[in-house]
Amino acid sequence: MSDAATLAGVIGWPIAHSLSPLIHKHWLSALDIDGSYIALPVVREDFSRAVDGLRRTGFVGFNVTLPNKQAAFAISNTQDEAARLTGAANLLLLRSDGQIEGRNTDVEGLRTSLVEEFGPDVAAGRIAVVLGAGGAARATIVAVNQLGASEIRILNRNVSRAEGTAAALRPHLRARLEPLSLGEWVDAANDAALLVNATSAGMRGIAPLQISLEGLPAGAAVYDLVYNPLETELVKGARMRGHKTANGLGMLLHQAVPAFEAFYGVKPTITPELYRELEQALSE
Ligand code: NAP
Repeated sequence: MSDAATLAGVIGWPIAHSLSPLIHKHWLSALDIDGSYIALPVVREDFSRAVDGLRRTGFVGFNVTLPNKQAAFAISNTQDEAARLTGAANLLLLRSDGQIEGRNTDVEGLRTSLVEEFGPDVAAGRIAVVLGAGGAARATIVAVNQLGASEIRILNRNVSRAEGTAAALRPHLRARLEPLSLGEWVDAANDAALLVNATSAGMRGIAPLQISLEGLPAGAAVYDLVYNPLETELVKGARMRGHKTANGLGMLLHQAVPAFEAFYGVKPTITPELYRELEQALSE
């Protein structure tokens, strides 16, 4: 790395376990780019001061993870459509004219991963069930709508949050959005073609969702945004019943591609070797 190296990173709290540095450093090395990508631990209250500091130190931009994606959206001067729809930005670019550009690459990351795992018609003209109503669920609903779903059922523990998410997105999306409580799972699942878990349930240290997959049609695909553990109880149960399944590692990698290209000017490739590196890091 020279004195002229391009500086970028990821802001979050906690950030020590983020896989983003591993991904971006892998590409910097593979592509022999004079750049650096740093994990930056920043609590919510310090977010705007940290952004100012990074601008003064010459950073070209950075990724944003929990709990700062909404604050990142609020601080940005311009936003792409995915950021506007979700009200969240996971990528901020610090322009030389002082403007901050906010983007949401989670939507593109998930859409690309769903197509890669299950094919382009996984949701086209069909019913999808999304579990959760937080930021990741919003990105999921927008991505599944882009894949042509006719109806998206949004199931959340706190049903009023599902109603709020549906109300915010309804004017902008083609799919019919139906907010429901998790208790309505059995009726919601019986004609679904795609199930996406966008809750934190099933993450290491958080209990899995107590839902029975019995009523889910045999042909339905199951995607879990959670990737730590690599196989959640939900994915394991679905795989054992013969469903096509995938974890959220593909989304994580595909959201990083446009971010890396925006920082360093080169579009990177996701290789089996990079997948193996991430899986190795997660199993340590
Ligand atoms: P968030 O805004 O905090 O929302 C959390 C969601 O999970 C809410 O809908 C919440 O329901 C639900 N939830 C939490 N614990 C639950 C439990 N025990 N039972 C049922 N529902 C529960 O978080 P987020 O940003 O949307 O992230 C959600 C998940 O997506 C996280 O696991 C995150 O790591 C993952 N994610 C993955 C990627 C990727 O690249 N693969 C990208 C973004 C996020 P209530 O509203 O009822 O509390």
